[in-house]
Amino acid sequence: SDKPTATNVVILGAGVIGLTIAHVLTTNSPDAYNVKIVARDMPEDLASQAFASPWAGANWSPMRGFDEAQQQRERATFNKLWDMIPTGLVMPLPSRVFYGESDDLEQLWYRTLVRDFRVLEPGEVPTGAITGVSFTTISLNPEVYLPWLKDELLSKGVQFIRRKVHSLGEAAALAGPGGVVVNATGLGARSLIGVEDKDVYPIRGQTIIVQAPSVKEFISFPLGEPLTDGQATYMIPRPSPPGQVLLGGTYQPGSWDLSIDFPTAKGILARCTALAPALAGPETRILSHNVGLRPARKGGARVDAEWKKLPLENQWLSPQDNAEPPAEGEVLVAHAYGFGPAGFQNSWGAAEEVASLIELKLKKSA
Ligand code: FAD
Repeated sequence: SDKPTATNVVILGAGVIGLTIAHVLTTNSPDAYNVKIVARDMPEDLASQAFASPWAGANWSPMRGFDEAQQQRERATFNKLWDMIPTGLVMPLPSRVFYGESDDLEQLWYRTLVRDFRVLEPGEVPTGAITGVSFTTISLNPEVYLPWLKDELLSKGVQFIRRKVHSLGEAAALAGPGGVVVNATGLGARSLIGVEDKDVYPIRGQTIIVQAPSVKEFISFPLGEPLTDGQATYMIPRPSPPGQVLLGGTYQPGSWDLSIDFPTAKGILARCTALAPALAGPETRILSHNVGLRPARKGGARVDAEWKKLPLENQWLSPQDNAEPPAEGEVLVAHAYGFGPAGFQNSWGAAEEVASLIELKLKKSA
């Protein structure tokens, strides 16, 4: 199925970031790239705690205090996801976000982007909060959205190869001279030989998925740092299956603990019920308890691209590759990881950015 004159692209990682990059590359320029996704965890591995994407809410709701590049990605992603509402994969989500500190909320950068933005009156915020805003954003269900992305990519000729890669050099050898490697390995970037980015760290999130059809709003209080004991309180209704809501949660930087903690689960349920009393009703059913690790990075996400000489340093070739002498030439290495709590709401913007970087670097070298 390879297109003979197209550039080989090896995308490491099949979380929302790797998948969305593949989608943008194959949509913008259908004949320009042969895209292979090489990953340990695949979109259908919805019970794997070894990657973050299955465990997200997932809604679009920026935290305060992030940089310009991130705002640009979030803006592009909001517009794209809002336009996807008619597909049923994404739904409009009425939201109220409360804060434990007062601030000029009229200055929130996204107030003109989301729909129906309004600063709440003092009488509209619950005990313990000082201010709050309400607006309409979007949510999606990763358990539906990730398999949809994979189906889209299969129909565009993208190949999926299940493999744990040990080094960036190994991936570069798969791409070959003149090819492109995209590192979208999330927390994997911490240990991938040749990247070994020690600024990458987990933020543990424990959640409960419930059937609670009467909960129709995203409510959050407070989400962002610093948090008391790593506790955040939020609920995210999902478009499908109907009535499913994700209750959160925790936000625990540095914790790799994948086990479910029952006192924490009870606390989540109690805090969410205080904000949405309908949860105490008889129709509420607990569907699952979950823990996922958000792939964060000190200083924010890394998005860049650079030409490197083959073979890369510290290449650890697999035995079958050792049969051939390493190829010479150059490979374009792009990175897209470290999106922490916001990978879904950055996904389309980040993917457009990576696709533009690749296009630019390939043109310059031609
Ligand atoms: P991942 O999904 O972790 O994927 C990494 C990929 O790389 C996987 O395929 C993995 O197998 C592969 N990989 C890694 N190392 C190797 C290797 N050596 N060889 C081969 N493959 C490798 N975000 C939002 O935008 N909105 C939300 O509401 C939201 N809520 C969240 C709630 C919780 C509880 C959690 C845990 C996260 C939430 N997030 C949310 C964050 C979001 O889930 C992540 O930012 C996003 O999933 C990161 O995607 P990714 O593709 O970068 O990484």
